[in-house]
Amino acid sequence: MTDEAAGFRKIIYLSFPPETSGRPVVCNLALLFNLSFNILKADISPRHEGSLTLEISGREENYRKGLSYLKENGVRIIPASQRIFRDEDLCMHCGMCTSLCRTKALSVDLLSRKVVFDAEKCSACGMCTRVCPVRAMIVDMNDSDLN
Ligand code: SF4
Ligand code: SF4
Repeated sequence: MTDEAAGFRKIIYLSFPPETSGRPVVCNLALLFNLSFNILKADISPRHEGSLTLEISGREENYRKGLSYLKENGVRIIPASQRIFRDEDLCMHCGMCTSLCRTKALSVDLLSRKVVFDAEKCSACGMCTRVCPVRAMIVDMNDSDLN
């Protein structure tokens, strides 16, 4: 199911209306669009609105088709951009994350030699959260402001 060669990765929040609960719309992302997903957080109860935080990977084209499919099925999609944070106390400026950050949201400041984080450039791919040895990069999964 994993399409590592494609390398596209995104963290998104999904908000489900009650009428979609019980339908396998998320499973269909894998079946219909060959996307892989990890459920980072789930809050779903039968016959009520639910929410999911998903890390999706696969081909970018399939990702876009998968999102259209979700929207057609009434799922509200909220990008996780601007919801990636850095714990400044934990970061030791090792630079490991900078080589993986495709958008250059994480980069080394040549003067200070410190790693700077520009949240505006972050695409929420989540790669830094995987590689940071001290887990300084954090996905905010508080969904209180999503409804
Ligand atoms: S990998 Fe973690 S500790 Fe290293 S520079 Fe990046 S955020 Fe800081
Ligand atoms: S800061 Fe992290 S989550 Fe954001 S684009 Fe860079 S690697 Fe991806």
